[in-house]
Amino acid sequence: MKEYLILLYYCYTHIEDPESFKLKHHFYCIENNLKGRIIIAKEGINGTISGLREDCEKYMKDLRADVRFASIEFKVEPFESHAFQKLNVRIKDEIVFSGLKHIDPTKKTGKYIEPEEFKNVKDDENVIVIDVRSNYEHNIGKFKNAISFDIDHFRDFPDKVKELEEFKDKKVITYCTGGVKCEKASAYLIEKGFKNVFQLHGGIIKYGYEADGEDFDGRCYVFDNRISADVNKVNPLVISKCHICNTDCDRMVNCANPECNKHVPICDNCAEEFEGACSQECKEHPRKRPYDGRGYYPKKLNGYNPYRGIKKG
Ligand SMILES: [Zn+2]
Ligand SMILES: [Zn+2]
Repeated sequence: MKEYLILLYYCYTHIEDPESFKLKHHFYCIENNLKGRIIIAKEGINGTISGLREDCEKYMKDLRADVRFASIEFKVEPFESHAFQKLNVRIKDEIVFSGLKHIDPTKKTGKYIEPEEFKNVKDDENVIVIDVRSNYEHNIGKFKNAISFDIDHFRDFPDKVKELEEFKDKKVITYCTGGVKCEKASAYLIEKGFKNVFQLHGGIIKYGYEADGEDFDGRCYVFDNRISADVNKVNPLVISKCHICNTDCDRMVNCANPECNKHVPICDNCAEEFEGACSQECKEHPRKRPYDGRGYYPKKLNGYNPYRGIKKG
């Protein structure tokens, strides 16, 4: 069987001409049969892609060879196939939309704390651990005792910082999936007067490999076909409940009704009974998709063209 890898990475750097960089990068990914989502901005690159092991290794080597990305770190996970249907390379204002365009993490950001050290200090009474991710992410998994916020998008995080006033003099450690959101989130905390700000380097994913994910409850939401990934190999716990019967369940599925498409935990029994739908109503919906036990419905690739988005000329 062929061996695939999933790469998760970001790099804050300066890309002078994102348009021409994007064009070259997009072609390069097509030529090397890579799929996934890559965001390019003047402030850097943020991506999650999959491909054959040799293609991914070439990608990492070539990207690191570019001085702008010499310091880039890749979170690498083996997988049995591509984890994406398509290749999508886009230019945006920020590599993660935060509304904090004025912050340049290459100039100011929280200090890195490595997974092993994080494991040792996170339960200290003078340490505050902050999950900067959104509801759909921390609802299925987060660190024990971490503070999380009722937010639907990362851009809503800055507004929540005022709820943390009382911790200004404590040691504060932020974390997210792979580390990219923390670069600006931690910088913003510093800007708001927090004195001792750290960020979990490489996020939950790297903590999973390097510290066996100890004390991470539930699963880690990921942005590929897997939907969520296992992190904790030491003391795993299920924290989410089946959307239908309310038993402990961390099996995330998409509702089989395409017009609902709700992304929720549904246990095996309920999924079978409701044919992959999240409710009786969705089960009876005329457009309901056939359920094959996965609860994931790849988008139809009719007319998909990896060259789309590349301007001719
Ligand atoms: Zn159930
Ligand atoms: Zn539904």
